[in-house]
Amino acid sequence: MALYSDIVMDHFRNPRNVGVIENADGVGEVGNAKCGDIMKIYLKIDGDTITDAKFETFGCGSAIASSSMATEMIKGQPVAQALQLTNKAVVEALDGLPAHKIHCSVLAEEAIKLALKDYYDRHGIAYDKQQFPSCENCGHCHTH
Ligand SMILES: [Zn+2]
Repeated sequence: MALYSDIVMDHFRNPRNVGVIENADGVGEVGNAKCGDIMKIYLKIDGDTITDAKFETFGCGSAIASSSMATEMIKGQPVAQALQLTNKAVVEALDGLPAHKIHCSVLAEEAIKLALKDYYDRHGIAYDKQQFPSCENCGHCHTH
């Protein structure tokens, strides 16, 4: 069995939504010291809809494929729905990731959440802080 699914390989070789959004409404950057992955997600939000999403990822193939898939999944979605995106959904959409690469999909989830938090902060929109991971309780920095 191949280590990576065809979908992962496709998104790794031809990543969607690579780049930077000038004047983004929200930017989220996360890093994983263990793996060396750094992921930055840019969101353009119009009204309550994510009209565009782009990313820059310096990291392994799984991190690139995860960001590519995750940005595809949230484009055109309402903000509230994008907040519900889990790394599990990203992994499922990628048709699986090797167990030791699951944390790369967690980065995508966290980068999107941070970008949405940034959007709320910049626009003075009230939100429930519990919805957002903070480094103290996200857990994955410690478990990997
Ligand atoms: Zn990685």
